[in-house]
Amino acid sequence: MSAPTRSDAAARVADLLADLLPGGRIGSVVAGEVLAGTGDALALVNPADGGVLAHFADAGPSVVEAAMAAAREGQRAWGAMSAAARGRAMWAVAALVRRHAEALAELETLSAGKPIRDTRGEVAKVAEMFEYYAGWCDKLHGEVIPVPTSHLNYTRHEPYGTVVQITPWNAPIFTAGWQIAPAICAGNAVVLKPSELTPLTSLALGVLCAKAEGMPRGLVSVLAGAGPTTGAAAVAHADTRLVVFVGSAEAGAQIAAAAARNIVPSVLELGGKSANIVFADADLGRALLGAQAAIFGGAGQSCVAGSRLLVHRSVHADFVARLAHAAGRIPVGAPTNPATQIGPINNRRQRDKIAGMVEAAAAAGARIAAGGACPDALRETGGFYYGPTIVDGVGPEADIAREEVFGPVLTVLPFDDEDEAVALANATPYGLAGGVWTGDIGRGHRVAAAVRAGTFWVNGYKTINVASPFGGFGRSGFGRSSGREALMAYTQTKSVWVETAAHPAVAFGYVG
Ligand code: NAD
Repeated sequence: MSAPTRSDAAARVADLLADLLPGGRIGSVVAGEVLAGTGDALALVNPADGGVLAHFADAGPSVVEAAMAAAREGQRAWGAMSAAARGRAMWAVAALVRRHAEALAELETLSAGKPIRDTRGEVAKVAEMFEYYAGWCDKLHGEVIPVPTSHLNYTRHEPYGTVVQITPWNAPIFTAGWQIAPAICAGNAVVLKPSELTPLTSLALGVLCAKAEGMPRGLVSVLAGAGPTTGAAAVAHADTRLVVFVGSAEAGAQIAAAAARNIVPSVLELGGKSANIVFADADLGRALLGAQAAIFGGAGQSCVAGSRLLVHRSVHADFVARLAHAAGRIPVGAPTNPATQIGPINNRRQRDKIAGMVEAAAAAGARIAAGGACPDALRETGGFYYGPTIVDGVGPEADIAREEVFGPVLTVLPFDDEDEAVALANATPYGLAGGVWTGDIGRGHRVAAAVRAGTFWVNGYKTINVASPFGGFGRSGFGRSSGREALMAYTQTKSVWVETAAHPAVAFGYVG
């Protein structure tokens, strides 16, 4: 299948939007309606050919205000419903996502450049997230504390109120569902600001949330707008009670500081430079596939990408040769083609950043064992393609071995023993994820315990599930998403003291 022409893709996006957004117009989704922005015009660019797909206006302060007002109303209505009814409403959102799954996946593929085989899976996961948290709605309860006084003391997990969520471009609808579902399960209203580069599927999800039977219309709003304008206005708004950010460490630090100025807590899900460690005693065939999935899945635009491959020196040369051979054969191409495993990079700026980092590494003496450029066959497409790339022959202090590339670029480092492997894995300020491949199960557990990371795989890589907590150590952020821990992150605990004594001891004061 050849890449669609510019006008084909733009026309198809318009068709899909006509089904998914009221009036087919791109704007912020507030209480189920589309509100046009008042700010600068922003362009949506097709990653597969560089053509413009559509324009929309940055939301601006009046739209943020409308979303905040809708959130207040929505949360009040949500709080008045029984927990079981809230669960049924979340289940209804999941059903709508499943009903529109193919359209949502296609829209994501066209606008974000992600291969259709990936976006189909990610949309299905969004439905699973709403189903999982639907089940939690009537199970989120406190506990009774056996205090030493005559009181009944119990806890309640109460919502914050309005939560602002800010998300990046690499997995737009997945990330939106990942954060909206636990937030509303815990009783909050959500104002989500997706990346201005890829807002369409998040806006469509906002519409489905408003349409689903039982969902208050204002409970979830989605802002179409830029970070420093619309996103910053939402973070600084007086109604905001919690900020959840997924994105780069640089923007995360600014947003957490802005939230702190508003005396609002934040959760930060940031980037990584995760180590994938291969011991000589591993099933090397499986490790070879695992290493490719770890870095080349999503064209490396994945926060948990296994971007540093640590290989035991005795198998290093052979393993790199096999990886380089495989890298030359992974299907790279149009994201609409079901056979494509690596699509384009999401945007020109990111593609140029990736190319610049690899060129700098080569200029500093690195050996580029595979890739290092746009594949020849895709040069004429105008798309932001970059081939799967393997960088060898650098030390752990090299920039390419330390800094997040966020692209299909694997840096390989040899090691001599387990202690050195763990030391190399930990020689980074990040701590998002990591993996180890070994035939020695004791070693698997030892390394899992010793590597500083929020998620770690033994003889696997990249499996995540809504039921299991996810989050970073160190510069990869703080707070947890997914599972029961996300519900704790989206609630604040209240301690209630009820006097039960017939004659309470009066310790202070005067009764006249
Ligand atoms: P980014 O930080 O540039 O942007 C993320 C979001 O923040 C966007 O919606 C943007 O508009 C907004 N934003 C930027 N500045 C802002 C400001 N001052 N105020 C309010 N909002 C602002 O990140 P990106 O380039 O879109 O995404 C790539 C990064 O995201 C990578 O570093 C990647 O590792 C990280 N990421 C982390 C996870 C995770 O769960 N840990 C998941 C996906 C991506």
